[in-house]
Amino acid sequence: MTKVLIIGAGHAGGTAAALLRQYGHEGPIVLAGEEPAPPYQRPPLSKAWLKGEADLEALLLRPENFYAEHGIELRLGATATAVDAAAKAVTFADGTVETYDALILATGSAARKLNLPGADRPDLLELRTLADAEKLKAALEPGRRLAVVGGGYVGLEAAASARALGAEAVVIERMDRVLARVASETLSDFFTRYHRDHGVEVLTSAEVTEFEASGVRLADGRLIEADAVLVGVGAAACEQLAASAGLTCENGVVVDETARTSDTAIWAIGDVTWRPIPMHGGLRHRLESVPNALEQAKQAAAAITGRPAPAPEVPWFWSDQYDVKLQIAGLPLQAERQVLRGDPAAAAFAVFHLAGDLIVCVEAVNAPAEFMAGRQMIGRGTPVDAERLANPAVTMKAVAAG
Ligand code: FAD
Repeated sequence: MTKVLIIGAGHAGGTAAALLRQYGHEGPIVLAGEEPAPPYQRPPLSKAWLKGEADLEALLLRPENFYAEHGIELRLGATATAVDAAAKAVTFADGTVETYDALILATGSAARKLNLPGADRPDLLELRTLADAEKLKAALEPGRRLAVVGGGYVGLEAAASARALGAEAVVIERMDRVLARVASETLSDFFTRYHRDHGVEVLTSAEVTEFEASGVRLADGRLIEADAVLVGVGAAACEQLAASAGLTCENGVVVDETARTSDTAIWAIGDVTWRPIPMHGGLRHRLESVPNALEQAKQAAAAITGRPAPAPEVPWFWSDQYDVKLQIAGLPLQAERQVLRGDPAAAAFAVFHLAGDLIVCVEAVNAPAEFMAGRQMIGRGTPVDAERLANPAVTMKAVAAG
């Protein structure tokens, strides 16, 4: 019977194990991960959990006894150190070796480090794991000041949660706007204003040059004082194991539409992959999102159990900050222009990115109808009339109907 070994017991790995059983796989499944906790969701670590609105139970993907009940051997605290693709065997840090017939690499991504003086200070915080989040939570007492280095989603969410807990927050961004790499200017401006309105100091074009005991030193000489410093400057694919197996890696492990790597017995899923996006002409991208982890878990489980490949999905993502629900579908990769619908000042609007008369991406702020319709139109390749799209008096249903 085919033995499936999954390395990385996070969102993608945990989901793949469950799906394999759901799809009828009867052989052994070993799910090995280096963290001590069973597979859990990371999104609440910067949101509900950080604010104390969700407990550990609520974070878990599935109850702890699910794995034993479904014949899934869960090896926690197990760090895989090398893959021997020829021998179909994985070595772990404790010296044990696990063989496989099919291997799924779901090792995720790790917080990027800055190569700056003081960047090795033990009191610097990052936010990737439950253990990281526990340290951050302990630092967020009322009146204490948190400096967040990096104005990306995780940093902004942490700043919003800090404010909810009564802590002060300052966000320090090197680029001239927050979310510069991942969002439109309209969205960046909106979130900058929203955070400032909630008492967060947002510094842009501000380059950190050193981490000091009392805070963060900027290139212009200013010291930004802080009781705690969170470094949130993105995440890099954990592709070392894949590289040890001789798999093709670029900005992550190169996979095809079925999540298969350059080795026919090895799949890779989730944050670690450099994957083609069918909705965007097969362009490759590294998607760091839960929907992507779920989609690729389905692809690998279907391929291993001999089921038809699932239909390609439109990439999507969400972020919660204060009372704002941001939902993004598609990628603005080939976009030529943007269409604004709604009013940023009213915190309810959507930015549509168009290539010709096709929507390729929608950024929706407190605008679920725009998100849902936009996502559908991206998936179906529905042509759109930009003028009607910009007019909130025309319903999204009518816009989609043409
Ligand atoms: P992970 O969930 O990171 O799991 C990878 C696992 O592999 C880890 O447990 C790691 O320890 C383990 N591992 C790595 N190397 C080894 C090894 N050699 N041996 C054994 N185990 C190993 N996405 C959204 O869509 N919406 C959000 O709002 C959102 N918010 C987020 C907030 C935070 C704070 C963070 C950190 C992420 C957020 N994300 C969000 C991203 C989302 O959580 C990830 O895209 C998702 O977890 C990816 O799943 P994964 O299984 O690929 O990686």
